[in-house]
Amino acid sequence: MDSLKIQLFNTETRKKELLQPIHEGRVRMYTCGPTVYNFAHIGNFRAYIFEDLLRRTLKYFGYKVDQVMNLTDVDDKTIRGANAQGITLDEYTSTYIKAFFEDLATLNIEKVEHNPAATAYIPSMIAMIQKLMDKGMAYRGHDESIYFPIKQFPRYGCLSHLKLDELQVGASQRVSADEYDKENIADFVLWKHYDPERDGTIFWESPFGPGRPGWHIECSAMAMELLGETIDIHCGGVDNMFPHHENEIAQSESFSGHRFVNLWLHCEHLLVENKKMSKSAGNFYTLRDLLAKGFSGKEVRYMLLQTHYKTQLNFTFPGLEGTRSSIHRLNAFIRRLQEVAQSPDHAKSKGAFSEWLELMQSKFDESLADDLNISAALGAIFDFVREGNTACDAGSVHPDEAKEGLEAFRKINTVLGALEGLEEQSTVPPELLKLLDERKAARANKEWARADQIRDQITSQGYVIEDTPLGARLVKKD
Ligand code: AMP
Ligand code: ZN
Repeated sequence: MDSLKIQLFNTETRKKELLQPIHEGRVRMYTCGPTVYNFAHIGNFRAYIFEDLLRRTLKYFGYKVDQVMNLTDVDDKTIRGANAQGITLDEYTSTYIKAFFEDLATLNIEKVEHNPAATAYIPSMIAMIQKLMDKGMAYRGHDESIYFPIKQFPRYGCLSHLKLDELQVGASQRVSADEYDKENIADFVLWKHYDPERDGTIFWESPFGPGRPGWHIECSAMAMELLGETIDIHCGGVDNMFPHHENEIAQSESFSGHRFVNLWLHCEHLLVENKKMSKSAGNFYTLRDLLAKGFSGKEVRYMLLQTHYKTQLNFTFPGLEGTRSSIHRLNAFIRRLQEVAQSPDHAKSKGAFSEWLELMQSKFDESLADDLNISAALGAIFDFVREGNTACDAGSVHPDEAKEGLEAFRKINTVLGALEGLEEQSTVPPELLKLLDERKAARANKEWARADQIRDQITSQGYVIEDTPLGARLVKKD
């Protein structure tokens, strides 16, 4: 499958480019993770679902992926939150870290190789700042904090396509906040000097005095330490492009002397009533809000996944309902293929179904390889389902074809991660399959209490019994 060339849109060059990993067959990618000061909203999860789609697509095409998703547990917002409650930073962030991982699991987002917390990498950040100072690429401001002089980095602005000379950045302009906009472009903070009133007891000792790292240096330090000085892909939401990623490039390249990232990918926002979903605007839903309204993790996943990552997506409840019927249609077709696969009465020879299947597979692959064109990939699946249903109605699908269809959906679902009923029964523990047989016998003997007891035993092992026209089967719980 790796014969297909993968093209991805690079924000820096504003062009689709061929993915050419530094180490053949292995993609090293850094994805900016959550600031753990609150529960993530589904806008944040749009970014993580896009990154999960990218990761799963790379694996689907045969690449080994080495991915970092950090946890920003020290920044202006986490310090403010911990101090407001009079608790330690760890106590404050641990609630949100736990909730974040639970939400990732509910959304069937794959676990990544590294989830470093910024607080565990402070020595690397200090070493980086020290080297920048030694190279004359960092200086102390009047407020004792250490800053990066953007005018000394000629490539500054390369990612967000800003022209520094046109922006008239003054030598004395400095910004110490972690987040700011393009109107406030200025030298940015690398090490924020300790202020007892603002920081309470939260600070680290360093050669530059007590304080804490700026947000931008955190990601650079974790990325380089875990993945190397030049990485293949770096992702985030479009709001990360400036100043966060621009600053990451400036300090990382000044530190190492060579290119930091080969491909920059940014996903567009999730909107509500055509405005960016955000904490500050108060127009957000958490995943938990949607689960409480009766939607499943897979439905929310599919809703966030189905629009191309570079297109804004407007969240609506009717849209989410629409997602539910799309998944239902796909799952119903999978059940139908299972019936045909085990039925002796269907077509005796292979026909058009196989050709449709092949067409769907090649369109699915080509679309994903073309900058993750998921809408086209899903379009190919739905075309196939329509033809496949017609063929099943006509009884013209051979059981072997249905099996091939199921195998194709199993592969596709390694990317989509939203479909049901594709689990191979061979992965179910044999003792549970034995229990399933016992339940069947109990039901045949009308021993209902015994059958229910066996069902509970199976459920307690993390599986549910799904009754299909072909008999009961076991499916792992979400
Ligand atoms: P934060 O926790 O604010 O640092 O954001 C975590 C990630 O979510 C970043 O990659 C942001 O770019 C992304 N993000 C925040 N709001 C949205 C939104 N409404 N739509 C898509 N991505 C978002
Ligand atoms: Zn980051």
